[in-house]
Amino acid sequence: MSVDLQAYAQLIQELQPRGVTLIAVSKTKPVADILELYAAGQRDFGENYVQELCDKQTQLPPDIRWHFIGHLQRNKVKYIAPFVHLIHGVDSESLLSEINKQAIKNNRVIDCLLQMHIAQEETKFGLDEQELGELYPKLNNYRNARVVGLMGMASFTANAKLIRSEFQTLHQTFQTFQTFQTLQTLSMGMSSDFRIAVEAGSNLVRIGSLLFGARS
Ligand SMILES: *Cc1c(COP(=O)(O)O)cnc(C)c1O
Repeated sequence: MSVDLQAYAQLIQELQPRGVTLIAVSKTKPVADILELYAAGQRDFGENYVQELCDKQTQLPPDIRWHFIGHLQRNKVKYIAPFVHLIHGVDSESLLSEINKQAIKNNRVIDCLLQMHIAQEETKFGLDEQELGELYPKLNNYRNARVVGLMGMASFTANAKLIRSEFQTLHQTFQTFQTFQTLQTLSMGMSSDFRIAVEAGSNLVRIGSLLFGARS
């Protein structure tokens, strides 16, 4: 068996009482694995690649809530716009504008998270506080791309102290901006750092390898 159902049960037990939503990150994993977790009750799944997400979506039950958690190119928004539940990685106004346009075409409101750059690495995508402050007053122009929260990834490091401080910083930003607009979702935490993230105020964690095993 490739899915760790025991780890799944433990995660649910740990997260549910704290009001934390679990996204099962199924990128590179086969449809059969997703179905196994679906049968155990999981409905929120996360994918990073548009083509892969679209392939899986057509083969799997319609009540799955699909989260796009990767870096989204503007010209690919149209493929996921008909069905995506939440887009986690919005880091520019032009992407938000395109999501809004495609949402209108599909007669939907698509929920989005703004991705914040909190890690020390240069390679991670996301906005800094200043960019967030500049984008914020314009959010009302995009009524069909509804910003419901923030997302961030901590540095890839074993230094728990650093990870904690990065998550705390993001939580602080979340609280600051919550006073201007209702934000519900703070997406932070993966297999290796979700406990730190939950302690720091996350209410949505994105977990792959802990459930599905390591990716090749
Ligand atoms: C792959 C991925 C995850 C899951 O990572 P694991 O370490 O396997 O839990 C979470 N968030 C994002 C953005 C990812 O790309």
